[in-house]
Amino acid sequence: MPAVSQQNQASNSLSESPVTLLDFQRMFPDEMSCLRYLERVRWPNGFSCKKCASIGEPFRLSTHPRKLKCRSCHHVESVTADTVMHRSKTNIHIWFWAAYLIAAQTPGVSALELQKRLGITRYETAFQILHKLRATMVRPDRDKIGTEWPVELDIVFVGGKHKSGTQGKTDQTPVIIAVEIRRREYRNPKTNKLIRRTLAGRARLQALPNKTAAVTNDFVKNCIASGAVIVSDDGKEFASLRALGYDHRPVPMRGNREKMDSYLPMISKVTANLKTWIDGTFHGVGKFHLQTYLNEFMFRFNRRFFRPVSFQLLLGLGVLRTGLTYREVYDGVVRGENLPKTQHCTATG
Ligand SMILES: [Zn+2]
Repeated sequence: MPAVSQQNQASNSLSESPVTLLDFQRMFPDEMSCLRYLERVRWPNGFSCKKCASIGEPFRLSTHPRKLKCRSCHHVESVTADTVMHRSKTNIHIWFWAAYLIAAQTPGVSALELQKRLGITRYETAFQILHKLRATMVRPDRDKIGTEWPVELDIVFVGGKHKSGTQGKTDQTPVIIAVEIRRREYRNPKTNKLIRRTLAGRARLQALPNKTAAVTNDFVKNCIASGAVIVSDDGKEFASLRALGYDHRPVPMRGNREKMDSYLPMISKVTANLKTWIDGTFHGVGKFHLQTYLNEFMFRFNRRFFRPVSFQLLLGLGVLRTGLTYREVYDGVVRGENLPKTQHCTATG
């Protein structure tokens, strides 16, 4: 039986998110089950009126199932307030399906696919839903990486049109990638053998107008903690990182693929994932939309061990609750523990 169903029965803490497709279908068979879910997330201890603070079962309006009315002062509250679904004419059930598909699927979905899969009549509606869900993928207050772990840094070229089988760099966009290198040791509880793992931690990606030191420095100052260890090639664009206060360790690579893979293994991994995803899902990306896709990629990559969290964050429910931090999530993964599949998370992204 899926963890979520057990959780449903075991507690009313409502920290549940669907893990499998079966979970989703059980939890959200119809519109009403989605609305009740939103209500429980908003008022885990039962409805309380924002206006008069009275607590207790509200009036339920059969004509307006998204609204709840206080029995004392008749103030009306919406279960979708402060979420991406607020004031949307689209069924909440469709929103939930869309968020689930985006959170659970690798690699993501396009608006056309969403329209077809969910039977949405108009393409524009599917596009709007996807657009709003994607907008929740960027945390404006996200923190800097590199506080504890070294960071690999590189600039790669993405997008652009294929011309007779070749990709000219002129119509491609430079994208700067920074990714944490996390190293951990732990003992296998069964064999007591020491296991060493190196994993890619959080990643930050940004499309750049050009490949100069000035724009590179801006990105680094915004995204990487001061004093962090940074490994990169010895290109001119990285030449002033030491002067900016970073422990910069340049490695001469001269575009040598093997050297890149051995000195910047996490960058190689992220770049390969990014290019596969963009080519496979979007069949190439225009410059105009590139940053949006990079944001989605970051959101996915940074939560790849913890997908159920994404479902609630996408729907905008993250602001209504607090929960696990990225560190708690990540440390659980590195130690090989069973993940708390149904927890909420304020993971940084
Ligand atoms: Zn009231």
